[in-house]
Amino acid sequence: MNVDTLKQSVIDYSKEIGIDKIGFASADVFGELKERLKQQQSLGYQSGFEKGTLEERTEPNRLLPEAKSIISIAIAYPSRMKDAPKSTKESRRGIFCRASWGTDYHDVLRKKISKLAAFLKQQTPDLQSKLMVDTGELSDRAVAERAGIGFSGKNTSIITPEFGSFVYLGELITNIPFKPDSPIEEGCGECTKCMDACPTGALVQGGQLNAQRCIAFLTQTKDFLPDEFRDKIGNRVYGCDTCQMVCPWNKQVDFHLHPELEPEPEIAKPKLKPMLRISNRVFKETFGHISGSWRGKKPLQRNALIALGHFKDKTAVDELIPVMRQDPRPVIRGTAAWSLGKIGTEKAFDAIQEAMNEEENEQVLFEMEKGLQFKKLHEKEG
Ligand code: SF4
Ligand code: SF4
Repeated sequence: MNVDTLKQSVIDYSKEIGIDKIGFASADVFGELKERLKQQQSLGYQSGFEKGTLEERTEPNRLLPEAKSIISIAIAYPSRMKDAPKSTKESRRGIFCRASWGTDYHDVLRKKISKLAAFLKQQTPDLQSKLMVDTGELSDRAVAERAGIGFSGKNTSIITPEFGSFVYLGELITNIPFKPDSPIEEGCGECTKCMDACPTGALVQGGQLNAQRCIAFLTQTKDFLPDEFRDKIGNRVYGCDTCQMVCPWNKQVDFHLHPELEPEPEIAKPKLKPMLRISNRVFKETFGHISGSWRGKKPLQRNALIALGHFKDKTAVDELIPVMRQDPRPVIRGTAAWSLGKIGTEKAFDAIQEAMNEEENEQVLFEMEKGLQFKKLHEKEG
């Protein structure tokens, strides 16, 4: 079979297995990306979750020596939840970002790309290939941009004309010299909505993200969250969708093409208080299959504590006090103290004061002091 016929049969097969968009790119070095990554590194704008060296991230033949092409795929995911449970005064809820709704997309995409690779192998027995989804060395976004899947928006997302930016991306590097597709035209124009809406100023300029200020990254860290971001994260327990939700390309975009990616409302918008005392077993059973659980329960619990403080949820005080006093993890004890201060009832302040007599960890004590400082603020507010 010649390469053009093979390409068409791959495209046809991709539709059969539920791949929503496919594009082909050359496996040339990503020269521009390399320069951009160097700059990001020197500015300290990276998240630290990146895999591989600068060369591995930008030179496909370091990952597959015979690399000739990269097949990029996109799977659309929902942006709206049917029957979303309401957050009530008695039972406040957090929110997982849309990319964490439903079954972990890494698994869903890996399965589809593996099928594609098996199909190719049938047609070309000497196929060499390497698949990647998000956690690989290559930038899914740079590949998708080159393969004409979408353009790179000022919010750094790949924006497809068909599905907006609510797409998961993955790729297969191959040794087959497929004819590359052309990139599509940039479509942001004069718009700056995403940059204006970002709560933390993480989009330092169009297309440039300081991951250290981005809530999507910050919700995944395990240490104390820096003070300046605590009021900004709101009730987000994992990720942030703000710069995508405001994007005009995402207006009216809501695709429900894959049952496994449908949100489970009670998980995607979980009640906050039960998250504080969830056991490892229940955590795994409840959240283990979603991508937002990859860092374990600690960051999510820390974020849930901040969210309860954000809501000034007085009904949480009785549950926060034992967390502050007994949880073995300093980040959780300290954040609980901060949250109690933020809620600011008399009982909360008394509990912080009392717990300070027993607490030995310096950082937790510091958080307790911060918690008590809210008292002056509450008094001023009357
Ligand atoms: Fe800003 Fe949230 Fe977008 Fe990050 S994900 S750039 S914090 S709006
Ligand atoms: Fe581009 Fe506007 Fe969308 Fe930002 S909000 S990515 S500037 S179109």
